Amino acid sequence: MKAEDLAKITEGRLRGEKNISVSSFEFDTREGVSEALFIPLKGKRDGHDFIEDAFLKGALGTLTEIPVEVPEGKFSIEVEDTFLAFKKIAQFKRENFSKTLVAVTGSVGKTTTKELLFHLFSDRFKTYKNKKSFNNMLGVVYTLSNLPRETEVYIQELGTNAPGEIGELTAFVKPDISIVTAVERAHTEGLKDFDTILKEKMSITEDVPAAVVPYAFREFSKSFETVTFGREGDVRVVDLKFFPDRTLFSLEFFGKRLSFESPIPGYSLVNAAAVAVAVALILGVDVADFPERLKSFQPPEMRLCIERLKGVVLINDAYNANPRSMENAIHVLSLQPTTKVAVLGDMAELGEISREEHRKLGELLNRAGVTELVAFGEEIGRALETFKGKSFYFTIREEFINFINNYDFSGKAVLVKGSRKNRLEEVVKIIRQRY
Ligand code: ATP
Ligand code: MG
Repeated sequence: MKAEDLAKITEGRLRGEKNISVSSFEFDTREGVSEALFIPLKGKRDGHDFIEDAFLKGALGTLTEIPVEVPEGKFSIEVEDTFLAFKKIAQFKRENFSKTLVAVTGSVGKTTTKELLFHLFSDRFKTYKNKKSFNNMLGVVYTLSNLPRETEVYIQELGTNAPGEIGELTAFVKPDISIVTAVERAHTEGLKDFDTILKEKMSITEDVPAAVVPYAFREFSKSFETVTFGREGDVRVVDLKFFPDRTLFSLEFFGKRLSFESPIPGYSLVNAAAVAVAVALILGVDVADFPERLKSFQPPEMRLCIERLKGVVLINDAYNANPRSMENAIHVLSLQPTTKVAVLGDMAELGEISREEHRKLGELLNRAGVTELVAFGEEIGRALETFKGKSFYFTIREEFINFINNYDFSGKAVLVKGSRKNRLEEVVKIIRQRY
């Protein structure tokens, strides 16, 4: 986009070269800003401190709230509020995008579903998605701003920590198809009770032409057209069979039946595949090749990746944790035909139900046949109250890491999972080095 046009869109004051075009929009100079418009934002530090750095690293222009020195051949646009201006650029992109925008929310499985949709649709459409879990307003604005012109299907994850966020994000991105993957008791701290969570997730269907939602919540969908999935519904999951390293299942829909082999054990791709078929039905796309393509799907990093090391089966799910994904991961551990060890951190942001949910973990581990538990964190200690096997509990990171460095994992299956703040990838790294 041309500097001149950007100044118009942002209602800002242009200085410097007005005829050059930027090829992307970036707010972090560490992410590569070559040929970009740099957008300084105020976070822990003020992004304005990095404008010079951005220009040095190849940015062609910058938004700014204060007058800055502009290098020869480059430009700046002075605005009152850089984030609002960034939003205006994203909005402009949205207004000029007339193909399909798919929005995904849910308590669990957003990123998995986004990645699977991308994987399944990218051979017949020019497909675009948000990076990582860029699912808040900044993530949406960033992703939308950088939307490539030729995109035919754009998949955007929407996340929430407080009531009203999904509604706000939905009104901003204006999805053509909205998806609710699941509604569970996650992020309870800001969202309180189940009804609030349900209402929050379902607000992604407000003023949206088509929606894909779990059968159980169909009456809460406000879309004109709603396709349901689950044990019952338009796209039904049948014949589930679990194995240590994969899951077999079939999907039945409108008189058809397709058999799948998921390369990720447990439930995670089962739901996501049902959602993908539902989206394909809405778009009128043939799904005959979905089973074959599903086989080559690779999970996003640190999300239920099974690694076979020398003498150790490592189940790396260190990215994050909530009760539902914990249950799924422990289920996958239970499928392993050897001694089972769980290295678990806290499930964060659970608020009032935290104590109860952590306590329940111990029972869940007992039933799964897990005999060794290594726990690290403030809340996870509750799990030891009900766990019957051998357990080790740490609240000091150094002691925990020291223990991991010396514990005998040989011949065992090891699940590593905890919330982001626990940074359990360090445990994964140590086990990989040792085995
Ligand atoms: P976040 O809020 O952290 O962005 P998310 O909603 O994007 O989470 P994912 O990252 O897709 O969720 O999945 C988190 C974990 O839950 C993964 O380990 C994944 O395998 C598991 N998971 C995904 N979908 C399901 C499901 N339908 N049932 C049970 N577990 C699932
Ligand atoms: Mg995510």
